[in-house]
Amino acid sequence: MRSYVTKMAGVTTLPPREEREAALAEAGYNVFNLDSENVFVDLLTDSGTGTMSDAQWAAMLEGDEAYAGSDSFDRLQAAVQDVMGFEQVVPTHQGRGAENVLYGTLVSEGDHVLNNTHFDTTRAHVAANGGVAVDCPVDSAESADEGNSFDGNFSVERAREHVDDVGADAVPVVVLTITNNSNAGQPVSVENTRAVREFADEIDATFVIDACRFAENAYFVREREGRSPSDGASDEAPSREPGYEDASIQAIAREQLGLADAVVMSGKKDGIANIGGFAAMRDPDLFEHCKQRAILYEGFPTYGGMAGRDLAALAVGLREAVELPYLEHRIGQVRELAGLLRDAEIPIVEPVGGHAVYVDAGAFFPAIPSTEFPGQALVCELYREGGVRAVELGSFAFPDTDRPEYVRLALPRRTYHREHIEHVAETVEAVFERRDEVSGYEIVDEPPIEELRHFSARLEPVAE
Ligand SMILES: *Cc1c(COP(=O)(O)O)cnc(C)c1O
Repeated sequence: MRSYVTKMAGVTTLPPREEREAALAEAGYNVFNLDSENVFVDLLTDSGTGTMSDAQWAAMLEGDEAYAGSDSFDRLQAAVQDVMGFEQVVPTHQGRGAENVLYGTLVSEGDHVLNNTHFDTTRAHVAANGGVAVDCPVDSAESADEGNSFDGNFSVERAREHVDDVGADAVPVVVLTITNNSNAGQPVSVENTRAVREFADEIDATFVIDACRFAENAYFVREREGRSPSDGASDEAPSREPGYEDASIQAIAREQLGLADAVVMSGKKDGIANIGGFAAMRDPDLFEHCKQRAILYEGFPTYGGMAGRDLAALAVGLREAVELPYLEHRIGQVRELAGLLRDAEIPIVEPVGGHAVYVDAGAFFPAIPSTEFPGQALVCELYREGGVRAVELGSFAFPDTDRPEYVRLALPRRTYHREHIEHVAETVEAVFERRDEVSGYEIVDEPPIEELRHFSARLEPVAE
């Protein structure tokens, strides 16, 4: 049993109801426009919002700010090698910088990129390089056995159908996102990773793992995955195959990431840092090309848009992220929130994924049509009711798609306590009790790029 103690106290305040009401109206009913000082529990994202450890802060003081040959870079490189098994590392300012460096090198006009589910910035980088982003998620109904599934998996079958249509030459890159962020943070099995590796070999594509939450993913593998006989464990008659339950998180991560040719990483997720990222790859030629592109967009290859102290903090954070007690606490908090919501019969996505609980706002507000953004209505009510900031990931954030009306409650790492989690659950419950009184929203002012509207558009409640 291990837990965290607070070494530095920060204050969070719940403003009075009238002030929340005024702040919400002033923000144009878009919580991205709120000042964080007016937010009591901020579950907008788990990206860069976590709390660093004393060891990370200590490492920051020793950050080496040399332009070239920084000792802090050496420490990051050693951590990536030990934890993830890649020797060649190109540091970047954050995950999308790594995507720019890697996909800008691998993807050309007309190429198709297959992914279990593209995260938004990944999709944008594929498109920015003239490529076509194709999602190949598994049908989660296939793995209905609750709590034990890998709903984040990549469907090799779908991918193969797509390759039959466009030809293998059109697909230079296959990506596996672990955990699958855009699919409710669902995990991906090692077995599936192995199948994707074989598929990439078949079509002669580079196999990239988007490893932003590789440690959380390894936690699910350790908890759930049995080894199949094809792993070479045994060729005897099927008895109960031992799984990963006795393996260390680091060993699982090394095994899973060891199947890839390259990784992209956001240090703001399982690096437990506030900023930073990197790409890492095995092929020396690809490494050279990425370094050249990194110089153009990120900085010299021993700092890549990060201060030396940020490299140092990330190096320590990566090692902490694969400690089992850390992950037990991390995933445990997400499950704690899910459990409270489940007890209150709030419609949430099950099984619960790694970094967040997703509420199904369509089921929460059955009377609000998707054209009036039920997810955004819930987001506004959570702030109004309890100063809780969540994010809409439904028809407001993703126009012209038929995505479900999800609201994500993402937990920052090592930041909130039981009392905050209980407050969030009580807030959701209070809104649920008066759900019949809540109306939908309409957009009154939106930016030119529709795909980015949820960051800045202004809305108003629909008149009764
Ligand atoms: C956050 C994220 C990224 C991009 O990383 P940033 O640090 O936000 O630029 C890429 N892929 C996935 C799966 C992510 O969650």
